[in-house]
Amino acid sequence: MNNILVIYTGGTIGMKHNPETGVLEPFNFDQIREEVPVLKKFGFTIDTVSFDPLIDSSDVQPDFWVKLCRIIADNYGKYAGFVILHGTDTMSYTASALSFMLENLEKPVVLTGSQLPIGMIRTDGMENLVSAIEIAASQHDGRPCVPEVCVFFESKLFRGNRITKDSAEQFRAFHSGNYPPLAETGIHIKFNTGAIHYPEQWGKPLQIHTQLDTAVGILKIFPGISRPFMESVLQADKLRAVVLETYGSGNAPTAPWFLDTLKAAAQRGLILVNITQCRTGSVNMEEYATGLSLKKIGVISGYDMTTEAAIAKLFFLIGQHKDSQDIKRLWQKNISGEVNFG
Ligand code: ASP
Repeated sequence: MNNILVIYTGGTIGMKHNPETGVLEPFNFDQIREEVPVLKKFGFTIDTVSFDPLIDSSDVQPDFWVKLCRIIADNYGKYAGFVILHGTDTMSYTASALSFMLENLEKPVVLTGSQLPIGMIRTDGMENLVSAIEIAASQHDGRPCVPEVCVFFESKLFRGNRITKDSAEQFRAFHSGNYPPLAETGIHIKFNTGAIHYPEQWGKPLQIHTQLDTAVGILKIFPGISRPFMESVLQADKLRAVVLETYGSGNAPTAPWFLDTLKAAAQRGLILVNITQCRTGSVNMEEYATGLSLKKIGVISGYDMTTEAAIAKLFFLIGQHKDSQDIKRLWQKNISGEVNFG
């Protein structure tokens, strides 16, 4: 059994130009099948569920992730793997969220999309869709080759919670600065088995976690950041956690007002996590005095995580736990390969 369920949510891959407005709008999966007749050549069944309405991924919200988890859970026994067609704009957020929400995942969940609609002659959607299906169906010794939430784009398969969209222009739209590709496609599909996570013990039932709490914000540090701006962000009503996007290896200004503002927030119980603005490398708050000052006031390291993974992990942890100390403790756990504590 290597039948595949394609979950079509929208995104550029399934859009075409509306002749009246000139903008891209979604069309249905039957039209995708027409554009990709090769789908009939797979020697297994490819079923489809389509979201209604189909969405541009800029409209993705956490309830959309819950809906995806439920579709996967409801169909888990029937399919060998799942392919999610999704817009590229927020694909890294969805992939990160699913990686936390789907516990004991033993089947591939491969997200893909494209930069050009599948109906266009130079589309990248065809190759992305066909390879994603092939990867989702690939097995070795009766086990799926990649039992993870991952993203296939432009010949590379990435761990879903390790990527960031870094090009609005190139077919190679995603970047995984801190984790190697799980597979690469050429004449053959080469799986990087050393990088893929396999369950220690197969056969555990899939568990989905649908309780997320979005009381989380992002504060990107920049030269000239002002006190009123920082205070208004950190004092937002009901906020539980903030991802601080810092410089380099986790550094930030040392001006007393800046540190005092963060310290006051930490003392009010706000969870502050430190994620680097750099595309590769890790936070190390013990490298420079500027990082150490953050550590001293209670900022916790996000190590080499992406901002997307940090946001999704906080939604997930705060959704499951009320106590800030529990959340901080669980933050230090690698839940689904999202972090390397180095
Ligand atoms: N705006 C589109 C989306 O994210 C872009 C894309 O699919 O590439 O849905």
